[in-house]
Amino acid sequence: MPILISCPTCQDPESKIPVRVQNQGRARASCAKGHTIAIVLCHPQFDLLAQIAAEAIVDGYYRDAVSSFAASLERFYEFYFRVISKKNGILEDQVEQAWKRVARQSERHLGLFIGAYLSETGVAPPLLSEKSCAFRNSVIHQGSIPTEAEAIEFGQQVIDVSYPIARDIYSRFPEEVRAVQKSMGDWNWDFAQPGDVNMSAAGGMIFNLSMSAPPTFNLAENLAFRRSQRSRQAS
Ligand SMILES: [Zn+2]
Repeated sequence: MPILISCPTCQDPESKIPVRVQNQGRARASCAKGHTIAIVLCHPQFDLLAQIAAEAIVDGYYRDAVSSFAASLERFYEFYFRVISKKNGILEDQVEQAWKRVARQSERHLGLFIGAYLSETGVAPPLLSEKSCAFRNSVIHQGSIPTEAEAIEFGQQVIDVSYPIARDIYSRFPEEVRAVQKSMGDWNWDFAQPGDVNMSAAGGMIFNLSMSAPPTFNLAENLAFRRSQRSRQAS
């Protein structure tokens, strides 16, 4: 998943360095002049996974894209459950205890999400269609190889389910969102090496939900933008 950053030492906005992000948004990179940088991308895991999925489509890895979009949705269920619990004043150790009981089974994540959403909003949450669930299972568990169009369609469905809800909780409960992000993200630079410049980065992700974020997100348009960025970078 290459994210483009500018070297904080050179401060040349024209010169971008592609960095590949690992767990908890961490990465190390070096610029053409040899400055080394330790980066923490301050985004929740579901956002990092959606980003990885979109980049996988651009790279032509459609199975990986479906798998990462599916993982993104599961992590989003957890994120929502934690934000709503926080907003309702539930103590963190109680949330942890509850999560431990469901952590190993994705069907249970879904159940917890449905319960939290229903009691929060009074309506049942939007969910993936049965057809999409069957498609996801055939790709992840049965080795089925999707086409690009199928990967995009599945990714769009995941985004249609999670993006509007994320947008809603980001705008209504920004403090709780930040607190949960921080508690799950473990943002520190203990992986940095001597001489590294440490930087946090944000932006350019799928769930980049500022106040002005549009109500819906079109994956195909976003992929076209990513492709144009790549070709600009290559030229
Ligand atoms: Zn530099």
